[in-house]
Amino acid sequence: MLFPPASCPRLIVKIGSALLVDPNGGVRRAWLEGVAADLADRARAGQQIAIVSSGAIALGARRLALAKGGRGSLEDAQAAAAVGQIALAQVWTEVLAAQGLTAAQMLVTLDDLEDRRRYLNAAATLDRLLSLRAVPVLNENDSVATAEIRFGDNDRLAARVAQAAGASGVVLLSDVDGLYDRNPALPGAAHLAVVERIDAGVLAMADAGSASGMGSGGMVSKLAAARIATAAGIPLAIASGRVDRPLSTTARHTLFAAERTATARKAWLAGGLTAKGVIRVDAGAATALRKGGSLLAAGATAAEGGFMRGDLVTVEGPEGSVARGLAEYDAADARRLLGRRSDEHAAILGYAPRAALVHRNHLALL
Ligand code: GLU
Repeated sequence: MLFPPASCPRLIVKIGSALLVDPNGGVRRAWLEGVAADLADRARAGQQIAIVSSGAIALGARRLALAKGGRGSLEDAQAAAAVGQIALAQVWTEVLAAQGLTAAQMLVTLDDLEDRRRYLNAAATLDRLLSLRAVPVLNENDSVATAEIRFGDNDRLAARVAQAAGASGVVLLSDVDGLYDRNPALPGAAHLAVVERIDAGVLAMADAGSASGMGSGGMVSKLAAARIATAAGIPLAIASGRVDRPLSTTARHTLFAAERTATARKAWLAGGLTAKGVIRVDAGAATALRKGGSLLAAGATAAEGGFMRGDLVTVEGPEGSVARGLAEYDAADARRLLGRRSDEHAAILGYAPRAALVHRNHLALL
């Protein structure tokens, strides 16, 4: 991935609280207008970008006059998020609309992205929004998520969203410009431009805690995000957002290289799971899959086993195993759709159908 990451057809950009909110609790609107102008340029060039926006707690805390930036207790943080999120949504709507872009809000919890069935729902919505050229603006659903089911930081959330969206890159815009070999405040600290592998030595370089004190993510959570993304075959950059037009400027950054895509995706999709069923396909469908397509019902000939929606299934062609992926339907509904064209599905099922039996974003070729 180059920076700016123009080469990614689908990109996730995470924006940290300190970039969105000034120290007095106001929105840094001029900077955001620059981001929106960058997004409009990218959209015109055909790139699809989803934003993971922090800042709800920081914005709400100021409006509610809460101590410790609203992070004194879980209740304070949740109340601050409720107030801040509605303000945040309004600002994004306005700055994007001024560029002719439509904002779409998605508030998600850890469960939405870790539970495979709910993961498929969130992924399908994201995919649809991006293909409709809307700009998804995501945040954690802080006001309802309890401590146990929170991500707590939007860095990891961005990495999970990137997997769900089938993105080809993640940029974490922050008030830090990347990873240093020791605390950057120490003399002699050296900036790393590229990290090929996140090993113990790299992890030891990170300092916990947010430099601005506004967000919850420090370098530890950024490295955790980099591990999630790169293990799923997605490169991730930590870049300075302390520039105007941060997506069209080559700001200083650290780029974490993706692990070899095929292997990483396979490992993640398998996720320690064993396949719960088999979908058999004809030769045409097997070829379409090898070219990167989704598994459509029209090319499927059998659905074996008792798999549920979100379970891992193996796809078998006439000449052997072709792919593994997450089933969009349970086995009974998949059987009803075998050999049927997409425009027949709604009538057969009696509900609005999914686009495929297995979507290409949740499929790994074998
Ligand atoms: N979801 C939090 C917010 O909107 C930000 C989490 C983080 O700091 O990464 O304020």
